[in-house]
Amino acid sequence: MKLLKDKVMAEGIVLGENVLKVDSFLNHQMDPVLMREVGSEFARRFAGEGITKVLTIESSGIAPAIMTSLELGVPMIFARKHKSLTLKDDILVEKVYSFTKRESNEITVSRKFLHPEDRVLIIDDFLANGEAAFGLARIVEQVGASVVGVGIVIEKSFQPGARLLEEAGYRVESLVRIASLENGTVAFVEDVHE
Ligand code: 5GP
Repeated sequence: MKLLKDKVMAEGIVLGENVLKVDSFLNHQMDPVLMREVGSEFARRFAGEGITKVLTIESSGIAPAIMTSLELGVPMIFARKHKSLTLKDDILVEKVYSFTKRESNEITVSRKFLHPEDRVLIIDDFLANGEAAFGLARIVEQVGASVVGVGIVIEKSFQPGARLLEEAGYRVESLVRIASLENGTVAFVEDVHE
């Protein structure tokens, strides 16, 4: 997705060799026009899949996920990283290791929003090792619902998440794919969808 590539080139800040900071349009300040385009693109790629829910994880997944769900005309659910005071019986819980915080979180979704007949599209801002996406997929599968695919705004293809998800049978659609962040520079993988 050219618009997103241009934005990453212009505003992305490389931290070390494996973290990209995009807090000017996705991770802190958010660009609503870009997010609308991101949502349209995911909706286009997953059209005809009979999606009934979009699922993400707070907080940076929420903007791309809500735009996607708006375009698809279905509800969006975000998994919480901190348990609410709801009764344990009413929530679905999975442990997820956070790439950026380097700690495990229990992510939760209320059972009342996911049903066995749901066809769920998982959306997240970044894909690194796949921990967040696998955790969300396990939540969907806990209730017997189906994961239609995983939509990622920025995939770091030099980390194993995309490969692991595909090997596990999930369809992964990433809007930009980064081959490397070496020497403080963003190098993109050729995007076959453009
Ligand atoms: P994974 O669970 O695939 O290992 O990592 C994905 C999650 O970690 C995303 O939800 C995202 O919040 C965070 N993350 C991973 N890599 C990066 C990165 O390079 N930059 C930012 N801003 N977040 C990242």
